[in-house]
Amino acid sequence: MSAGERSFHEVPYNPAQQAIVELLGARAEDRPEFDPGLSTRLQVMLEAELWPLAEQLDRDDALWVTKHELSGVHGCEARHLVDDAFAWSPPLARGTVVHKAIELSVHWRGEPTPLELVDEATARLEDGGGSLADWLRTASDVERADLRSVANDHVAKFLECFPPLLRAWVPVTESRVRVELCDGRIVLGGKIDLSLGKARGTRAGKVLLDLKTGRFAPSHVDDLRYYALVETIRLGTPPRLVASYYLDEARAHPEVVNEAVLDAAVARTVDGARRLFALRHGGAEPSRRPGPACRWCPLLDECEQGQAHHRDDAD
Ligand code: SF4
Repeated sequence: MSAGERSFHEVPYNPAQQAIVELLGARAEDRPEFDPGLSTRLQVMLEAELWPLAEQLDRDDALWVTKHELSGVHGCEARHLVDDAFAWSPPLARGTVVHKAIELSVHWRGEPTPLELVDEATARLEDGGGSLADWLRTASDVERADLRSVANDHVAKFLECFPPLLRAWVPVTESRVRVELCDGRIVLGGKIDLSLGKARGTRAGKVLLDLKTGRFAPSHVDDLRYYALVETIRLGTPPRLVASYYLDEARAHPEVVNEAVLDAAVARTVDGARRLFALRHGGAEPSRRPGPACRWCPLLDECEQGQAHHRDDAD
């Protein structure tokens, strides 16, 4: 038995695992075939819209576009600029530990417990250097205990909800993807939590999954469409399906990928890239868009729109 094929794979699936198997499975005739020129068409559409701003950049100062950047500028721009001044916090560190532990679980021999995975993931990240290692080393005992407890809960839910991922399903975790546009002056990047399956020629077969610890938000659909777009330009064949998976609810929110989905992702990526450029290089004033996230916004004390929304929400 090899790594990734756990000894307990013959245990019957629970209903949540069975739902995942049914979601991910597709007969060969249900896997769509795409035009081999699709990738080029999408790239040409993006570059036609983005060259006017790319001409004002150079390769050493490329504009990086990511899922996080796009959802930031399509939400409240003022908050996004504050969040961009990145610093590790308990929720961010916890998310990274959970993703690392899930990554280890896919390749671990035998049947690990969630806490074993969390502890191993934390140790590896702590040894890995960089700012997260510094944060972990200097976290208080309470912060570490809280991180361990919540991460354990999330990893346990993943192991409960997902069937053991067999090697034949080609599971890949934390896969970095990147596409360079306009002579490398604009870069579309991202990291996909989990991908399963693979394309066969121009017939789609891959499924991209984003693992979520919170509730559904419409922006999650856009996040995955963006990944489908990057994957299509990178590989030439789109993924068959994208899905956010909500660990607390043990529910997936899937979307079948087709050309309309990819065209929508192109339009949103162009709008977002233009706005990122205007904010970073054009001196544009960030807009404010009140919403549920105002409650946790560090600017709330000084933001009239956010306070008004917060009061209405409380009423
Ligand atoms: S309080 Fe709300 S509207 Fe104001 S900056 Fe923060 S997220 Fe934006």
